[in-house]
Amino acid sequence: MSTTTDVAPYTVVIGLEVHVQLLTQSKLFCACRNRFGDPPNTNVCPVCLGMPGVLPVMNRQAFELALRAAVALNCKIARFTKWDRKNYYYPDLPKNYQISQYDLPFSSDGYLEIPVEGGTKRVGIIRVHLEEDAGKLLHGEGGKRSQVDLNRAGTPLLEIVTRPDMNSPAEARTFLEELRLLLRYLEVSDCNMQEGSLRCDANINLHVHHNGEIIATPIVEVKNMNSFRAVERAMAYEMERQYEEWKRTGARLGEVPKETRGWDENRNITVSQRRKEEASDYRYFPEPDLVPVTVTEEELERVRESIGELPAQRRLRFISGYALPEYDARVIVEQGKKFADYFERVARGLEHAKNASNWMLQDVLRTLNERGWTIEEFPIAAEKLCDLIRRVERREVNTHAAREVFAEMLEGGGDPGEIIERKGLAMVSDEDALRQVVAAVLDKNPKVIEDFKKKKGKKRAQVAGFVRGLVMRETRGKADASLVEKLVNEMIVERAGVGFDS
Ligand code: ZN
Ligand code: MN
Repeated sequence: MSTTTDVAPYTVVIGLEVHVQLLTQSKLFCACRNRFGDPPNTNVCPVCLGMPGVLPVMNRQAFELALRAAVALNCKIARFTKWDRKNYYYPDLPKNYQISQYDLPFSSDGYLEIPVEGGTKRVGIIRVHLEEDAGKLLHGEGGKRSQVDLNRAGTPLLEIVTRPDMNSPAEARTFLEELRLLLRYLEVSDCNMQEGSLRCDANINLHVHHNGEIIATPIVEVKNMNSFRAVERAMAYEMERQYEEWKRTGARLGEVPKETRGWDENRNITVSQRRKEEASDYRYFPEPDLVPVTVTEEELERVRESIGELPAQRRLRFISGYALPEYDARVIVEQGKKFADYFERVARGLEHAKNASNWMLQDVLRTLNERGWTIEEFPIAAEKLCDLIRRVERREVNTHAAREVFAEMLEGGGDPGEIIERKGLAMVSDEDALRQVVAAVLDKNPKVIEDFKKKKGKKRAQVAGFVRGLVMRETRGKADASLVEKLVNEMIVERAGVGFDS
């Protein structure tokens, strides 16, 4: 798309609005339990049911979690912040207003760096604010009746609004993945999209390149995307739809009211829902029942100190500190904090951290996926795995036999040293003993030498490979593979009287 003969007809511009449920014990303005999956309407009280005459009290834990997220997103933190009522009627909102933040959000003007081809890209964060969630409507079969569950009403939500800095559907998805990783590292939210603890809306339009002019098309808000994949696909669909629409109508930004469309997962299209409300439709006004919140310098300092290393920093440290390839660092960090911690405990005791990475990304990760375990459920202690890999590094056991030890540790526990001893898996690296095995194999297979003489080039290497396989089988996979290679090559050439290249 960068050549002059094939100029992209437009740039796509995407901004995201993400709602994240905070991992608090209780709700934002009452003491009711904040937990997903409890029987409907069991975690409710007069405050979150919106009874008259009750008074909300802010949950300080929610505010602190929100601060952690905002600081990690490089936001400016307001020293003074207040609450506002956002008025609208909906059956899952018993008070007929949502307590939110309007003109004085507690944080603003931050950014998140996301990995992109050949580097990183900074996506601006306009604001992060705290608000209460609404309840949930359960629509019955056949559309005959609906029921309301107010367990979620009043639970704390973080709203994160980005600048329109993403320029492809893939970038929007990468942003969400990076945000989720960050919030999980911070233990601010579990970001489980299936349970609705991370929800995402998108604003998207095009900058069409037309006759030397750049024309912005009307912004469309897309809702109802229930997975990162859905976000990516909805953006790709909307991009093409808007371009066709522009070619048809020529409508520019500001000429038509903002439209809201919903993503239809089954049909893979967006469907028009309504023309968007303006902020003035909500009749915001300051919440009179809650005191404004002030944040002290000490409090902020405490939050900064509690944050620790973030995923992006950790990736860089794995690359520079452990000499890991970028790919390994990315995948290990992506698996979450506990997995990366485990990796570090293994890597620290080894000659080469890359060996730890290989085992983690192959054997350990495969086992976790197969058995549906988290790293915390993995039965082999990091110290034991380290011990095993160290024995491979020291050539006490070869990789093939080490996998057997690994399998044994997985099922029955035990110590690598003890298992190697008991199962007789120690590496055979006695040169004289191995020389005898190779000689015996060659004696038993005289055709091999004839073959070697008849063939040329690569085919000769294949003959040697065949002999190596026989030797490894003879030693039950325990021989030092590089020593076997050396001996087999030497002895074939000796007996055949010709070299590999002659
Ligand atoms: Zn309550
Ligand atoms: Mn909101």
